[in-house]
Amino acid sequence: METLEFQSEARQLLQLMIHSVYSNKDTFLRELVSNASDALDKLRLEAFRDKDLDADTADPRITIEVDRAERTLTVRDNGIGMTRDDVVALIGTIAKSGTAEFLRALKERDGSSSDELIGQFGIGFYSTFMVADRVTLVTKHPRSAEGVRWESDGGGTYTIEPVADAQQGTAVTLRLKPADDDDHLPDYTDPARLRQIVKRYADFITWPITLAGEDG
Ligand code: ADP
Ligand code: MG
Repeated sequence: METLEFQSEARQLLQLMIHSVYSNKDTFLRELVSNASDALDKLRLEAFRDKDLDADTADPRITIEVDRAERTLTVRDNGIGMTRDDVVALIGTIAKSGTAEFLRALKERDGSSSDELIGQFGIGFYSTFMVADRVTLVTKHPRSAEGVRWESDGGGTYTIEPVADAQQGTAVTLRLKPADDDDHLPDYTDPARLRQIVKRYADFITWPITLAGEDG
């Protein structure tokens, strides 16, 4: 297992997420589902471009599972996944323009709070740290022989290690913060609540979304 440091801007952003009092924390699910949807789009495109790609495209879907006893929530897709280098480049740094813009707006803000800006920009994967005190991502790209497990508590570092038996695609598991630490934290292990959030924020997603325990 390797321990790597977040790039400094990423670290800044994570601190902001961890201490966020942004009241609309539900948006983390929109971000995870939209990443899963993008990954399914990418797989379809890649499989079309490269007929030799050894990928399973038969039953593309997004699955949301909860474990109430463990207080975990997992968003899983069987999309394109990530190689080890992808994980380090995409999750460990702030490569994407939307987040860079967010940080710029934060520096130049005109009285708007960081929470207002979070709502305005949407800050992707890192928004999970608004609701989770530990995030684990297991992923496998069809061109990689093995999968990768990434884990962080949102502090300065993350760990990364190979996984022999990973399934194609990506699973992101959040260990939810204790509800009593945060008055604004809804119960994200409640399936009815999750269904409501998915309806509100992921209605535009064209891939099937299954909430474990329901048909979809
Ligand atoms: P954005 O989606 O705006 O690029 P995110 O922070 O949400 O920013 O995600 C960063 C990057 O990590 C994505 O662009 C994508 O390359 C990669 N990524 C995140 N989630 C997944 C996933 N479920 N499957 C494959 N790649 C992913
Ligand atoms: Mg995203």
